[in-house]
Amino acid sequence: MSTPPRPNTMIGLTQPDVSVWSERVAVALGMNPGLFTGPGTNTFLVGTGRRRILIDAGDGRSEYLPVLERTLERAGCEGLQEIVLTHGHPDHIGGAAAVVERFGPLRVSKLPWPGNDERYPIELTPLEDGCVIRTEGATLRGVHTPGHARDHLCFVLEEEASLFSGDNVLGVGTTVIPPADGSLVDYMASLDRLLEEAPRRIYPAHGPRIDDGVAKLREYVDHRNARETQILAALAAGSERVPDIVRTVYTDVPEVLHAAAGHSVTSHLLKLEHEGRARRTTAGEPLRAHWTRR
Ligand SMILES: [Zn+2]
Repeated sequence: MSTPPRPNTMIGLTQPDVSVWSERVAVALGMNPGLFTGPGTNTFLVGTGRRRILIDAGDGRSEYLPVLERTLERAGCEGLQEIVLTHGHPDHIGGAAAVVERFGPLRVSKLPWPGNDERYPIELTPLEDGCVIRTEGATLRGVHTPGHARDHLCFVLEEEASLFSGDNVLGVGTTVIPPADGSLVDYMASLDRLLEEAPRRIYPAHGPRIDDGVAKLREYVDHRNARETQILAALAAGSERVPDIVRTVYTDVPEVLHAAAGHSVTSHLLKLEHEGRARRTTAGEPLRAHWTRR
């Protein structure tokens, strides 16, 4: 048996509105604290020149723009070159339109997610795996890392061998894999791909800077594997439904997060089903079905 992961959530975590994480990276907090966003979304000014790249734009609340202005001042630059987005979840893309209105016109680019992106009133330029975005003092390379979201890009900051991990790796806690449009199979492959990049630092979209990127990625892989072992053990011991498995396995997680844990368990079950290691014994959606080991 592996040891259960230590209690590790972003509840109660705080962070300054403006911070500087390296000579090329300043952080403007999205001002959208919450159960799943921690202190809020980290949005990053990247580069050393007069105009910087902005990675992610928060969820669109009005408190963010003054914080972004203070961050530009603190970083000693005049404005934005362009916006790039890690993915199309609302706490990353939702603020883009307001930032363009204030600082634009600006190019806003991301890996396309048809059916999702149209919900936002902005023109988007498509990015793809391996894309390179340059500004003075910084070169970003996009790495397609689906799993948390199908359109997810991480960005390697070549000058530092550091990584903007979006929601794929968080400063505290673990990433939610939504069973509806996420995939734990894809997510595990994405973690492997990020390990190949061997990042020194990781700049996550939520929570504090991670100074040993490789160690954190290994911890993430080990954590998922430990959960999988626990879920298989719970099935073997007779737990058949997601809430039963959550109660058995997530003893280290506050109850307020049990609904999210249910999604996580469901994503594990779908991965095990995909691999022929678990199956549904009743019809219906995965979250409500009865499950057993194969
Ligand atoms: Zn997300």
